[in-house]
Amino acid sequence: MSPPFAPGTPASSVLAPEENEEALALFQELLRFPTISYAGPTNGSYRACCEWLVKTLTDLGLKTQVLEVVPNKPVVVGSWEGSEPALPSVLLNSHYDVVPACLDQWDTEPFTPVRKGGKIYARGTQDMKCVCAQYILAIKRLKKPSIAPAASFQPRRSIHLSFVPDEEIGGEDGMGRFLESDLFRSLHVGLALDEGIASPENSYKFFYSERSPLWIRVRAKGLTGHGSRFIPDTAVEKIMHVANQALAFRASQEKRLGYPRPASNGEGEGDEGKAGGHGGCKHALALKLGDVATLNLTVLKAGVSMDNGQTFAYNVIPHEAEAGFDMRIPPSMPFAEVRALLDAWTDRAGVTWEFAQEGGADPLLTHHATSIDGAQNPWFSVFHDALTSRGVPVIPEVFPAATDARFLRARGISAFGFSPMRETEMLLHEHNEYVSEEVFMEGVEVYVTLVEALSGAPRFEGEGAQG
Ligand SMILES: [Zn+2]
Repeated sequence: MSPPFAPGTPASSVLAPEENEEALALFQELLRFPTISYAGPTNGSYRACCEWLVKTLTDLGLKTQVLEVVPNKPVVVGSWEGSEPALPSVLLNSHYDVVPACLDQWDTEPFTPVRKGGKIYARGTQDMKCVCAQYILAIKRLKKPSIAPAASFQPRRSIHLSFVPDEEIGGEDGMGRFLESDLFRSLHVGLALDEGIASPENSYKFFYSERSPLWIRVRAKGLTGHGSRFIPDTAVEKIMHVANQALAFRASQEKRLGYPRPASNGEGEGDEGKAGGHGGCKHALALKLGDVATLNLTVLKAGVSMDNGQTFAYNVIPHEAEAGFDMRIPPSMPFAEVRALLDAWTDRAGVTWEFAQEGGADPLLTHHATSIDGAQNPWFSVFHDALTSRGVPVIPEVFPAATDARFLRARGISAFGFSPMRETEMLLHEHNEYVSEEVFMEGVEVYVTLVEALSGAPRFEGEGAQG
């Protein structure tokens, strides 16, 4: 069998076999907690997982604190004080909740980790208990080095590990509440690391921004009448007009992606001349999902019903119709442009649009990004230099969906989303989620490198210390 990694790149062969096994055992312990976001607060799995985290962090010699603003949704924080604790600290954040698993689609039991062919199968192996465990194992390595450096490491800046619930259902009760707490303020965070995504190529992707989700509700009113006539300006016809324009916009955005269109789309469109073409190194330059807007028509409502939608009158033209769209807006697209589009699509008598998100979408109307210009953001240089030192290409991207990092960036805190998985099939939220043992163990080494560099960073010019 050929090795999964390109020759000459660093691998994880520095550990003794028994240490490898110990690390993989810790990871599997964490995977066994069925911390599905919707069930975790009531079935006791959130609490059991947090008790395990508290014990594990305490055993490592970290100062451990638990914040429980929302009952049964604890946040666990472990802290390692630096030699210059007044300097802004480094936060290693992860979420311990996971998405549900469709049991009939899995070949194994999702919360009973199975090791097979050098891989570990379980829910959360990629999203993101791998990172939870890697943070812990990296700290363990730095605290009790069994390999070089011989002397144990002392961070200059304090290091905090936070484990939050509810990321998979929006994060309001998890990271959202954590950031509002006195505990969070007391941590004086300068830089946060949060989750990223697996890279199928031999590269590390990291994320400095993300697209903003917008849910748009469009309502149309029109003339009604008998289904046997040519009634003009019906509500459904108006909704279809909006939907057609929206879907044309969708197609125009999809065309901007650097990937070849699947040959089976029936439109006879080839991929010649497109950036990226058939992959290779051009991929790094091509537009990714995070760089374009997506739009999906996810709700359609119309019809006259006298029994709450059980049956419909086929011969009556409904005077109301509604469509719902899920849009994801990249930082490169100004919101004024989005509003102008929506206004144009709905520029017709009897048609209106509004944000469907609770409380409107105003808080979403600002893109927050972490600068990847070293001159503006010294954290970027430290992060990027350390990651690049691993000898693997490093690619900055915009995250295609929403993560907890948006809460941090909205507060002006630098945050990079990164999960150290290269040459790994993207399986977050998928059936039979797995990570290879080699990739997992390499990730521990990557965090040792990153944590050493970030927590060791001397005071930056103009950086404030805690008063
Ligand atoms: Zn996640």
